[in-house]
Order: sequence, then structure tokens, then C-alpha cells
Amino acid sequence: MSYQNGHFIGGEWIAEGATFANHDPVTGAEIGRIHEAGRETVDRAVTAARRAQPGWAALPVAERAAWLRRLADGMEARFDDLVAAEVADTGKDAVQARTLDIPRGAANFRVFADIAAQRPDNAYHLPGTLSYTIRRPLGVVAVIVPWNLPFLLTTWKAGAALVAGNTIVIKPSELTPGSAAVLADIAAQVGLPAGVLNVVNGPGAGSAGEFLAGHPGVDGVTFTGESRTGSAIMRTVADGVKPISFELGGKNAGLIFADARLDAAVEGSVRSVFTNGGQVCLCTERLYVERPIYEEFARRLAKRAEELSREREPMPMISAGHREKVLSYYRLAASEGAEVLAGGGVPPWAESGYHVEPTVLTGLPQGSRVNQEEIFGPVCHIAPFDTEAEAVALANDSRYGLAATVWTRDLSRAHRVAAAVQAGLVWVNTWFLRDLRTPFGGLRLSGIGREGGVHSLDFYSEPSTVTIKL
Ligand code: NAD
Repeated sequence: MSYQNGHFIGGEWIAEGATFANHDPVTGAEIGRIHEAGRETVDRAVTAARRAQPGWAALPVAERAAWLRRLADGMEARFDDLVAAEVADTGKDAVQARTLDIPRGAANFRVFADIAAQRPDNAYHLPGTLSYTIRRPLGVVAVIVPWNLPFLLTTWKAGAALVAGNTIVIKPSELTPGSAAVLADIAAQVGLPAGVLNVVNGPGAGSAGEFLAGHPGVDGVTFTGESRTGSAIMRTVADGVKPISFELGGKNAGLIFADARLDAAVEGSVRSVFTNGGQVCLCTERLYVERPIYEEFARRLAKRAEELSREREPMPMISAGHREKVLSYYRLAASEGAEVLAGGGVPPWAESGYHVEPTVLTGLPQGSRVNQEEIFGPVCHIAPFDTEAEAVALANDSRYGLAATVWTRDLSRAHRVAAAVQAGLVWVNTWFLRDLRTPFGGLRLSGIGREGGVHSLDFYSEPSTVTIKL
């Protein structure tokens, strides 16, 4: 027996009361005798605890946390004694005691020390003080949105901004002013108080967008659009030190592992590459496929791209200018020696309008412009990989970090790869499936901040802390 067999009361060991036997569960042998606490001994222990309680509670939580850490240090120093006591009493395997039961003791103390020290509820934290937090709206928020999902993106920002108490000025893209105008009409029809929701139209640089972002009466800017435009808006708002929320471009990777359900991975990739003519910030433009299924996957994806083209899908590019930008990447790919598995130009049936062919490219190096720059059209480059580590490295070889898709049936791999891929959004065996409460946004060139659920409400309001001396 390597431990005391009495009672520990008020900081002292007291050996009083009759004793009872303690047996080794492995052999059944008696290994010691323990004192039994009578009513009076219990009373002394409770009285000691009551006496100590007000002083203990009066300590700042940081000091109580420090005591817990000291106790955890003590557990580690007496590790072998703890293992011996636990093994003797329970008969459990010493390996389990060493790797689970005893280390968990110190961890239990440390975790609560860490958590309690962070909690802001104050009677508990700083005695004699009450602190609480109120949130107030930013004020007037500029909502600057692009053309690719005009209504979805406008409402995504406007809803959160309004409910947090802000009034808003929306600047739709000059290419897609329609649905924001209808929204303004609806605001008037339902009798929304005048001035709460406003819309101004016009282009961005040197015009309505820039004037709005830089206006001294604007307290915050929420923007979705190109990364380059994001930099320009940052410069515009720098003097005013305004809060910004930026959802910017992407160069998103799709990783298809050989164990994936092939039909689902092909159809999912058709969606993630070609939806909305590839004009979604979340669209996949780089596909990496594990070598055993690479040939078949590439063949099937190319076949589907050709079918889409024949069926006069997907939708056209937004403008002649954007069609020219996308076609310039098709030409660049060809000049850099890409193999064109499908598409690569203008569909033969497109007499007018801004259509381009759904296009699948391969054979370009990872560092090529086609593999590094956002094209924002119905196009992807496809390349094989051999190992999980290689797939992750390829996905992460980008200045963007918005979204990624992972196709696999291996649960462990799904979690591992999702954590290793540097993107704000990772979809496993699906794409663009959104729970609107979850944070949405990107890393690096893909944005600043997160919107979605409480993350939006946090951006569209400022916390203020009130502290009262009681
Ligand atoms: P864009 O950046 O050209 O324009 C977006 C908006 O900003 C438009 O309303 C435009 O008029 C305005 N604008 C342009 N220059 C400005 C300036 N200097 N000051 C203030 N406002 C200015 O983007 P786009 O071409 O309309 O949209 C496509 C881009 O949007 C792509 O890069 C795409 O990836 C990105 N996007 C990102 C997300 C996301 O959530 N991360 C979503 C959709 C689109």
C-alpha cells in the first residue's frame, strides 16, 4: 500500500474510526485496511470545506486555474504512485493505467483550468465586477456584389446586415441590375421604412462602387467579387479604417480518389465544373484524379462535357468581354501544349450570344497560368496523382483558398484530407451543399472574414463591453 488510509480533513491526515479491508481484485488478498468515517468525521470534513469555500471563491479565476495546474504538475510528479494505487485497488492493467487513467487526471485539471480562465461570466471571474457585452449595428453598410449569382449574393448579405440593425446601400453589378431593382420595389411594396434599403447602380472603379465604398457615411463594406477588386476596395476604405468582409475569387481543386463512387464523382464534377457556365466562385477548375481511375474518369468527364455542349448547355458567359477572357485562356492552353479532351472553342451552333464550349484540358504543368489563374468559365484542367500526400500538395499549390471537393469512400481519408486542404470550404462527396449557419469564406486571395449564420451577425455588428464595479 503506497497511500494513506485515513481521512484528509482541513489539510490534515486523520486516522480515526473503525477499519475495513481493501482487497486486491486480482488475487483476492487483503492489501490494506481503511478507516471508516462516522457521522462526526463527515461533519468535520464538511465544516472544513464550508469554512474554506468563501476564500476560495474570492480568488480570481486565474488563481484558481493556477492551483489546478499546480495540482496537475503534482500528479505528473507522483505518476508512478498514482499508477501503483490505481492498479492495486482495481486490478486493472498497468498499461491502461499508465496510458489512460492517470494521464487523464492531469488533463482533466488542465482542461478546466484553461476553459474557466476564458469564460467571461463575471461574478465567477473577477469578484466585485460585472462585465457584459452588447452588440450594436455598424450603421450604414455598403453591399457590393458581382454578376454571377446576383440575387443570391445580394440577399445573403442584405438579410444579415438588416436584421443586425444596419441600413444598407446595395450596388449590384452593372451587368446585372435587374433583381436588386425588383428587391427595392418589394421593399417599397411591403412598406419597409424609407431609407432602410437603398440601391445605386453603375460600374465600380471610378464610379458608383468606388464612391460608395469610400463615402465617409458608410461604416462597413461587404463585398463579393474578384480578388483584384477586393484590393482596390481595401485601398479605398483604408483611410476610414472600415470593417470589410470579402468573398473573393477561387481556383478550386477537386480530388478524386480511386475508391470513390465513380458515377457520383463524375456527375458531381460535371456539376462543380460546369454549373452556371462555370461562373460560380466555388466551381472546380482543377481536377486531380488517382491514377488507377484517371483514364476512365477523364474519358467520362469529356464525354459529358460534349453532351452538355450538344444539349446547348451550360449557360452563356455574362458578356462579350467575359467570353473573350475565357476564350483567351482556351487559346493560351492550346499554345502551351495542352491536350484538349473536350471543347476548346465556341460551340458550332452559337450564332450570337456569349456561349463557349464546356472544356476539359489536360497535359499542362501545375505552374502554368491555366492551372493558377481563375478563368471563371466552364473549363477544368485534369491531371493524375499517385498518393494522398501528392494530391493534397497539388490542391494547396494555389494563391487562392476558397473551396475544394474530395471524392472518396474512405472515412478516415475524408477527414484527413479535408483538414489538410487549405480552403475555407471543403465538400466531401458533394459540392455546393450549404448549411446557411456555417461559416462561408476563403483563405489567402479568396477573402477576408466569414459570413454565414452567427458569423454574419458578428460582422454586421460591433461588440461593446460594459464593466460595472459592484
Ligand atoms: P468584380 O470584382 O469585377 O465586380 C464585383 C462588384 O464590384 C461589381 O458590382 C463591380 O461594379 C464592383 N466594383 C468593381 N470595381 C470596384 C471598385 N474599384 N470599387 C468598388 N466597387 C467595385 O467581380 P465580377 O466580375 O462581377 O464577379 C466575378 C468574381 O466574383 C469572380 O472572381 C468570382 O470568383 C467572384 N465571386 C466570389 C464569390 C465568393 O463568395 N467568394 C462569389 C461570387 C463571385
